[in-house]
Order: sequence, then structure tokens, then C-alpha cells
Amino acid sequence: TEFTGLGLAAPLLRAISEAGYTTPTPIQAQAIPLVLAGGDLLAAAQTGTGKTAGFVLPVLHRLLDKPAANPKAGRPRCLILTPTRELAAQVEESVQTYGKHVDLTSMVMFGGVGINPQIQALRRRVDLLVATPGRLLDHIGQKTLDLSGVEILVLDEADRMLDMGFIRDIRKVLALLPKQRQNLLFSATFSDEIRQLANGLLSNPGCVEV
Ligand code: AMP
Repeated sequence: TEFTGLGLAAPLLRAISEAGYTTPTPIQAQAIPLVLAGGDLLAAAQTGTGKTAGFVLPVLHRLLDKPAANPKAGRPRCLILTPTRELAAQVEESVQTYGKHVDLTSMVMFGGVGINPQIQALRRRVDLLVATPGRLLDHIGQKTLDLSGVEILVLDEADRMLDMGFIRDIRKVLALLPKQRQNLLFSATFSDEIRQLANGLLSNPGCVEV
């Protein structure tokens, strides 16, 4: 499989080629067409497999493909939840890298740093928001963030989020999202707790395993 055969928009292919990638990794080859088709996804993938590009690229494509229904500051169209600030920062960097030739904006928010710069950043358009669950809920409490426009939800390293005790926070966030949306769940391991979360969250998911 080549990247050019996956159906990604030209500005995304250009960013991929500038990143020096020639061939999609197995998770990318499987996940990208499924996400582009609009379905939910359940992916078993460790870090290092290229999973980040596996969801960031098709998510960018889908957002490009469909204009925002109600564009507004602080109202993201895609929400990516990660367990740690390090992972959140890495994922947002990937969004920047793969999205450098498209007109979509992103921001990252996590705890342990001041909330005010994040509040400032939310006064602008933010198409993709990468966040850790606790800080995300802080913003909800401050009413600086509107999740009613989320079209795509990504849970990255969902098993680690559960291990870190984020399940209640995740459930609170889920309750704030529109019912009609695309859901992507990435996890390295599959405990009963993850299966339960996946069962409640995903409808007819495409499954990929690498
Ligand atoms: P991840 O598993 O998402 O953390 O990605 C692991 C590393 O693989 C990152 O440093 C990416 O830049 C790199 N990578 C992702 N996709 C590809 C690809 N198709 N070809 C070469 N490197 C890649």
C-alpha cells in the first residue's frame, strides 16, 4: 500500500512526504480507510506503530471535507483525549506537522501549567483540541470551552487513561458531547474495563490490530 492510494487529500499527502514517510505503517494502512469512511474504530496498537498519524491524518481529511456547521471560538470539531501531558503535546505536534498545509487550527491543554493562557487560546477558532481529561473538565467548569460541536472523538491510549483513574472524568466528558459523532478508541491492551468502555462508546466499529 502507498499513501497515495488511501484517499487522503493532496495537502495531507504533501505534509506526509515532507515528513519523509514513504509507506504507511500497518496500522495506518488499516485505520485510515476505515476512519475516512466515517465509521467508529477500535484499534489495538502500541506506541511506535505510527498510530498517531493513523488517526490524525484521516481526522484532518474529514474536517477538511466538511465545513464546520457552526464555527465559533472555543468550539472544537475534534476532541483528542490522552492520559498525559507529554502524550498530549506529542499528538498536538503531529496535528501541526500533518496539518501544516491545511487551514485547520489546533491547541493542546493539560494540567500543571497556568489555565489563563489556555483560556486566551480558546478565544480563537480551535478545530482540533488535544487534552488531558482533568484540565478539560476545569475548562468546562469555567465555561470557556464548548463541546457541542465535536464531530470526532479520539481516545488515545485509553488503557492508560483508565489505569490513571480517569474513567469518571471520561464519562463526564462523554456526557457533554453530541450524540451524533465518530468515535475512535486506541488502546495497547484490552481489559474488561476497556471492553466495557468500548462497548458503550462505539457503534459497529471497524477493528484493527497490529
Ligand atoms: P507513534 O506510534 O504514532 O508514536 O509514531 C511513532 C514514530 O513513527 C513517530 O516518530 C512518527 O514520526 C513515525 N512515523 C509514523 N508514521 C510513519 C511512516 N508511515 N513512515 C515512517 N515513520 C513514521
